[in-house]
Amino acid sequence: MTKRTLISGGAGFIGSHLCDFLLEKGHHVICMDNLLTGSMENIQHLLGHKNFEFIHYDITHYVYVQGKLDYILHFASPASPVDYLKYPIQTLKVGSIGTQNLLGLAKQKNATFLLASTSEVYGDPEQHPQSESYFGNVNPIGPRSVYDEAKRFAEALVMAYHRHHQLNTRIVRIFNTYGPRMRIGDGRVMPAFISQALQDQPITVFGDGSQTRSFCYVSDLVEGIYQLLNSNVHTPVNLGNDKEITILDFAKEVISLTNSRSTIEFHPLPQDDPKIRKPDLTKAKKLLHWEPKVSRKEGLVKTIRYFQEKLKL
Ligand code: UDP
Repeated sequence: MTKRTLISGGAGFIGSHLCDFLLEKGHHVICMDNLLTGSMENIQHLLGHKNFEFIHYDITHYVYVQGKLDYILHFASPASPVDYLKYPIQTLKVGSIGTQNLLGLAKQKNATFLLASTSEVYGDPEQHPQSESYFGNVNPIGPRSVYDEAKRFAEALVMAYHRHHQLNTRIVRIFNTYGPRMRIGDGRVMPAFISQALQDQPITVFGDGSQTRSFCYVSDLVEGIYQLLNSNVHTPVNLGNDKEITILDFAKEVISLTNSRSTIEFHPLPQDDPKIRKPDLTKAKKLLHWEPKVSRKEGLVKTIRYFQEKLKL
């Protein structure tokens, strides 16, 4: 029997890679997206595939899907800081009401439910690296709270459905992920620096650039999500890459890999910008037998090529 899988946010960056991956695995994929930050371009190549359906829909309204569903993967949400500052109410609604609607659907269909959560649940962390047992340091009314608190609420809701209704659930806490199909203007550091470097424009480093991030290539992430889906782990699992770099060193790396003439320009650090971030991957390695394989250089070369084509350079 073919597995039928609903992916909310399926036209987004990670969602569309999941559509590709699960179609390859033989699933029938129903991609649902309201295209707020997702794009038809990301799934254009799948339209017409016999196992693929696209439904243009906002999951903050009651969700109806005909037929059986084996899996629901909830990836709908603005996810870049610039996007969720632009759409604060939608971000809160999709993380709360949207999650509730899809959990109700999962219960009705007896489907396995997977929530795309985030390293942002750890806020500006006081523990390094961040392990799943850390409760986080989130400002509940800061500019990032619309995303952080929505995801924290979503995790609570998923665990309640698991404990109260015995729903089969998974929670993945996704750390910074990059690759083709990121939107050039989404404001995140990876598309910003690459597009600036490719056009010899100044690289906009926020603060003094001493803050750190750890970047995971999208194919590694998708593999990890699939392993999690096929596991029996109901508690949150971190997925990402644990090679940490400062934003200033990252700017220099992008300049060098693109042979750019860009200079570095310092801008004010946004409020509540996490100073450090690196996943503790012990749990994923032990329970999912997964670890990231793609080096930053390898992933960056592929991503730079994608942006070159997008910018028609
Ligand atoms: N950043 C930067 N210049 C930019 C965009 C981002 O220096 O043009 C910094 C940002 O302040 C943060 C890091 O890069 O410290 C990663 O930011 P991003 O928006 O990619 O996502 P975050 O990891 O903060 O969720």
